[in-house]
Amino acid sequence: MDSPFFADNVIIIGYGAFSGENLQFKEVENMISRKISFAWLTALFFIFISASGAYADNQWSNYHWEKKNTPPDHPILTLSIGDNHTDVNPTHWSTLLDVVRSNWDQDDGGFGGAYLAVNIVDGGAGDIESYNDDYGNTGWLGLASIWITRGKNKHIVRGQSKVNDYYIGYDSFSEDFNWAHVLCQEIGHTFGLDHNRDAGDTCMNDQTALLSPTPNDHDTDMLDIMYAEDHGDSGGSSGKKCHPIRGCGQSRVHAFWAEHYEDEQELLEASDAVVEATVLSSSFSHTVGGPDRAVPITRVILKVAETIKGKASRVIVLQQTRGPGLEIEDDPGYVTGDAYTLYLRQVGVNSYRVVNPDGRIRH
Ligand SMILES: [Zn+2]
Ligand SMILES: [Zn+2]
Repeated sequence: MDSPFFADNVIIIGYGAFSGENLQFKEVENMISRKISFAWLTALFFIFISASGAYADNQWSNYHWEKKNTPPDHPILTLSIGDNHTDVNPTHWSTLLDVVRSNWDQDDGGFGGAYLAVNIVDGGAGDIESYNDDYGNTGWLGLASIWITRGKNKHIVRGQSKVNDYYIGYDSFSEDFNWAHVLCQEIGHTFGLDHNRDAGDTCMNDQTALLSPTPNDHDTDMLDIMYAEDHGDSGGSSGKKCHPIRGCGQSRVHAFWAEHYEDEQELLEASDAVVEATVLSSSFSHTVGGPDRAVPITRVILKVAETIKGKASRVIVLQQTRGPGLEIEDDPGYVTGDAYTLYLRQVGVNSYRVVNPDGRIRH
């Protein structure tokens, strides 16, 4: 295998570990691609959580894995990732997963900080399960789900990462390091990290070009704060006590949207159609993906009041990734009777999805 992680337009300016064959780089030039452009800067929020004494900078809410009874000379939380991947030429997912793992692992890459070790096990046996499949033209490159306990401690008891083979080879998504950026972010979410949109050198940024396949020192610092101390606290249930139907606690889901635009004008230009429409109904339709990795799709039926761009019939169908147990945080359900301006990507006859959540503006 020859250097799969390099492209002509990537400039190596740092160091670090990224590859299964000792290719070294940590930072790549933060380029703005045509398809994925830097959308906006998010203010840096420091939220102090008095209960735990930790600040939640890019922690995902205050979610974290329980860590208890670690020996004083080895106070490390070890999480396992189940490899459920199948290769999709030219993307060797298992190789990428191992690269991602090593970049988060405290022994190998250092980005996981001093207290987080990550190993890979066979699919089905992990704290976190990692999947790929062709989920179709859903608008997202990857999904990260965590299940948290209902108690006050918000412990993560299970995680899932799903990446969408459908977009392999598209515009900005053709190189392995593009997909390592996505996979690195989904796995990072399952540790309890949120997006890190203030820096261009981390895979936890979902609004830059996909050129940063590793976390950065900020992510490391965050994990150190989250996992330095044991959390042998009450109120959590272990991952083994999951309800057979409802699963483990409540799920939280982040999506890595495939398209970003700087402003409404760019969004308008990129859309296949833009409409003013009212929701007639919304119901679970079907799943996409294999049995152990399926994702629910909801059909939202809307009555179009006005077509601002493109051609749309009087009634359109919106395909939304949502269903029992899965609701993407920035793309919640549509309520019957609500009116929206929608920026749409056509996915079939009379069938659309929103370009991204910026393309759903509720009136
Ligand atoms: Zn805790
Ligand atoms: Zn994300």
